[in-house]
Amino acid sequence: MVREKKNPYEIDETNYKRFKQKYNMLFRRLWDKTLPTYQKMIDTNLEKHIESKKEGYSRVDFALVAAAWTVYERFPYAFTWERKDLIDIGYGVNWMKTKHLIDDTESFTDTIKKAAKFYGASLVGIADVNEKWIYKTGFRRPDDVSEAESKKEVREGKAVDYIYNQKIEIPEGFDKVIVMGVEMDEDAISTAPTQPAAAASAIAYSKMAFIISCLGEFIRNLGYRAIQCGNDTALSIPLAIDAGLGALGRNGLLLTPEFGPRVRICKVFTDLPLISDMPNQGFIEKIKNYCKTCSRCAEACEPEAITKDENPTFKPATISNNPGVKKYYVDVEKCFEFWVKNSSDCGNCIMACPFSKIKEFLSPIEFWNKT
Ligand code: SF4
Ligand code: SF4
Repeated sequence: MVREKKNPYEIDETNYKRFKQKYNMLFRRLWDKTLPTYQKMIDTNLEKHIESKKEGYSRVDFALVAAAWTVYERFPYAFTWERKDLIDIGYGVNWMKTKHLIDDTESFTDTIKKAAKFYGASLVGIADVNEKWIYKTGFRRPDDVSEAESKKEVREGKAVDYIYNQKIEIPEGFDKVIVMGVEMDEDAISTAPTQPAAAASAIAYSKMAFIISCLGEFIRNLGYRAIQCGNDTALSIPLAIDAGLGALGRNGLLLTPEFGPRVRICKVFTDLPLISDMPNQGFIEKIKNYCKTCSRCAEACEPEAITKDENPTFKPATISNNPGVKKYYVDVEKCFEFWVKNSSDCGNCIMACPFSKIKEFLSPIEFWNKT
């Protein structure tokens, strides 16, 4: 498909600044005493939910969600920036030490996309690295330490500013980013905001950790460098838009032609020579027009965190929004308050979006009983 190279965003260059991750709600709740969610996390009401015996909030449901995070949380190699030791797993290591000769960049780009899909990505695109989207400061996990281990202090509410306010710098030569979408289970998402929907998100995170680990090692085995990322390091949505995966919706999420917002995004920065994709300008225009008159996500959002205004704006809803881009800003303070109340992320704005293409809406019991 031939795509026109056009800037997919309206940016106010005088106001745009690289995002500081400490303003992300999951970090802000640690230090911002003005928030009703200060020092609260999604476990605040969890046991009350289990006692309530409400459908979709049983111990079995919560067990499904928490276990779905296992690979994301427990695998120490998931978010590695570099391979410190070449460990021989039976294939020898000498052949991994030199750069693989790439004489046809176009064909090699297809090879990388094939590998990403082989490891489990539902969607793959490639973009030039735009420094605008790299966090200015944020949380940097030590290499080879699992998410659960490295975030222990953060989650206990003990983390001090420097832990989540470290300078983020992508080393020289990492000019490309491979952006991948991971589809979330349609049946589970249809039960939003109950726990099976949260489990669909959690298992997609674990799949992300799995995919980026394998892809990162694939690239290193070819003698090149790879930085494996989930939501960390850079804003995933604009990178995904640059990589041609979709458009930004009213709900503040990436909408893809294939799954709408029913995807999670992960990325691998690399110094491999690759050919970048173009933004999907036709789809971007389609969503721009569609979201103007559709507000299903806003109707479905219990805390009214999504605006029903017809037009996007440059005016952020809270200090957790990064200003300088014209879009529909989501009040993530209200959103996170609902997450704490709900004891999980919510997913209503994913479930309600027509682009998610959900064919059948299930109750949590129907979800469990469907074979
Ligand atoms: S996740 Fe839920 S609370 Fe947050 S914006 Fe979406 S619908 Fe609203
Ligand atoms: S539900 Fe409608 S308004 Fe919201 S993101 Fe989807 S298409 Fe846009």
